[in-house]
Amino acid sequence: MIKPYLKDFKPYPPGKPIEELRRELGIEGPIVKLASNENPFGPSPKAIEAIKEAAKDVHRYPDPSGYELKKALAQKLGVKPEEIVLGNGSNEVIDLLVKALLAPGDTALMSEPSFLMYEKFVQAAGGNIKKIPLKNLRHDLFALAGAIDEKTRLLFLDNPHNPTGSIIKHHEFESWIKDLPKNILIVLDEAYIEFNEDPEIINGLKFKDHKPPVAILRTFSKAYGLAGLRIGYGIMNQALADVLNAIRQPFNVNSLALTAAKVALEDEKYFKQVLNTFLEERKRLTEALKRFGLKPYPSQANFILVEVGQSGQKLYQALLRKGVIIRNTEAYGFSTCVRISIGTPEENDFFLAKLKEVLNEA
Ligand SMILES: *Cc1c(COP(=O)(O)O)cnc(C)c1O
Repeated sequence: MIKPYLKDFKPYPPGKPIEELRRELGIEGPIVKLASNENPFGPSPKAIEAIKEAAKDVHRYPDPSGYELKKALAQKLGVKPEEIVLGNGSNEVIDLLVKALLAPGDTALMSEPSFLMYEKFVQAAGGNIKKIPLKNLRHDLFALAGAIDEKTRLLFLDNPHNPTGSIIKHHEFESWIKDLPKNILIVLDEAYIEFNEDPEIINGLKFKDHKPPVAILRTFSKAYGLAGLRIGYGIMNQALADVLNAIRQPFNVNSLALTAAKVALEDEKYFKQVLNTFLEERKRLTEALKRFGLKPYPSQANFILVEVGQSGQKLYQALLRKGVIIRNTEAYGFSTCVRISIGTPEENDFFLAKLKEVLNEA
């Protein structure tokens, strides 16, 4: 018998794939997708070469410990390899943390809106999720703290936050966390940390051994352009990392991902070049959207939440017909907004041209 609480489960709603749009609306011209916060520049060319080379060995199981990659990450981050847990995307690390800490009937806290996957993994484990509304488009740290009770095991914070791009500052976090109960885990999801330009953002690594402890999540899906290979990691105190490594599948990260991630990490020149383009384009798009009379919210991520002063769903549909896929944020509770992932300069130009047409037609 299927567990009763799984009956109403629905699959994660991903951004619309390009081919689906082509089929559904019969669009023949170019299609630009700025919906899933992917990296349109792709990974380092050296990583692609490494994948080709590693393809020759795919008949072998991957290294179950991810030794080389963990060593490289540990060195870069100034932590021990034993404090790192690799996952099939950082999504898997969320799942592992939930499995390790949450028993049926226990509670996890998150903001509303925030990343949908926190809720899914908690519910799939038979736990309860309690959601606290954002305040001024930011995590409401004090309301979250106020919602902690004896059933609470986990508290999720994405920083930068998706879909607003807002951040929590180090000093805010530091004074907040010191008064929390010591027996919960704070999960600090830093999927977009590489795009942050604010020097005051939380330095999460400083809190991995704090009481309560903090587990930091990072990914190769966004800034490193490896979303399709599925690789991310968590940094946490070793006792917790040991448990996650004991309960995960031995070969949870595939061999191509392990190789590509290490090479991508080491190609700092390519990384910086791509990152600079992202940051320049974020500024340029923000200014252009303002000139159109829209209200882009300041973002420290590779996407921008934009207040459009009309139904976001309608604008989303109108842009779809012109071959531009953005994210409709209605499901996030922002019905008069849309979220735009930052594309290449050419993609952003295409988007701005089509947006101008749509706004003029309205
Ligand atoms: C994209 C994203 C991730 C990354 O997930 P992966 O499984 O590493 O691809 C994690 N958290 C948030 C908030 C995200 O938006």
